[in-house]
Amino acid sequence: MEDRFGRTIDYLRISITDRCNLRCLYCMPPEGIKVKPRAEIMRFEELLRAAGVALQLGINKFRLTGGEPLLRRGVIPFIRALTLLPGVADLSLTTNGMLLSRMNEQLWEAGVRRLNVSLDTLDQVKFRQMTRGGDFCQVWDGIMGALETGFQPVKLNVVALNHFNDEEWARFARLTYDYPFQVRFIEIMPVGTSWQQAGRYFASSTQVCQRIEQALGVLNPAEAVTGNGPASSFQLPGAKGAIGFIDSVSSHFCSRCNRLRLTADGKLRPCLHDQREVELLQAIRSGASDAELQDLFRAALLLKPVDYGEATGAPADGRGMCQIGG
Ligand code: SAM
Ligand code: SF4
Repeated sequence: MEDRFGRTIDYLRISITDRCNLRCLYCMPPEGIKVKPRAEIMRFEELLRAAGVALQLGINKFRLTGGEPLLRRGVIPFIRALTLLPGVADLSLTTNGMLLSRMNEQLWEAGVRRLNVSLDTLDQVKFRQMTRGGDFCQVWDGIMGALETGFQPVKLNVVALNHFNDEEWARFARLTYDYPFQVRFIEIMPVGTSWQQAGRYFASSTQVCQRIEQALGVLNPAEAVTGNGPASSFQLPGAKGAIGFIDSVSSHFCSRCNRLRLTADGKLRPCLHDQREVELLQAIRSGASDAELQDLFRAALLLKPVDYGEATGAPADGRGMCQIGG
């Protein structure tokens, strides 16, 4: 599917829940967000219907996210059913890793081959602080289990935060000497509840890259990593893994944007930085045909702004990442 600016859109990020077992400082307020009643969340058969329509339009890559996707009961049979839809080219999942150690094998058997695990610090105390209660060791066990299970690549998503994890950027990079991770440093985005933190902690990819190079020497461009999307990829000499930078704020990759998002409550969201959405779930529930649902995908595509400048913005009181599906 091509949008009006000639970008090929072949990737759908599906948020399967707005619930989460963590409360990361930059993603949620301390009390958490007001989750939607279950009846307003897409049922698995509705998600499969939406994915089927996306496939008809040539969108054949899917990422499951949330909230925390592994929290949703029935996620494994759902994934199995999703991978069996004809035409699915790629299925990956983004998780905070808290439930990973006990779910790695099941995820593999269900058909997932690529995992992104979010990890912003390697320090147990800071991890608890950042996630407001998470257990670093539990997540690390899950990550090690993912490598043993054979996921390839295992990506570590690190939101780069000045005054919080800046002392650890080189340490994260060093992990790639020993493990085949793709460590990806992400610029914090001013979305929903994270407006304030985005101002206080923002670190640009250039800043992170310079800090790593000062500590470890020059980063060489690496070969493309599967499903790398907007991240540019580098490697330390002799490293098993790679290092990526997602500079979504300092140098927008809008011209390379290939995605739509589907929120847990069934809205197609064309752009993170634009709060306009297209209602899909109500249409499914009121018996819309595949052709009508295809039109809603097309309508969402029409709303996709050419770039960050044209986007309407995501206000501080708008939906946060955990609600849109980061
Ligand atoms: N709960 C899962 C997790 O944490 O991986 C999946 C959902 S979470 C919203 C997806 C990703 O969005 C995580 O890697 C998280 O760090 C990132 N994220 C959340 N808020 C963000 C923000 N304001 N700027 C940049 N990344 C953000
Ligand atoms: Fe939950 Fe992920 Fe948001 Fe952290 S980043 S609060 S784990 S949804």
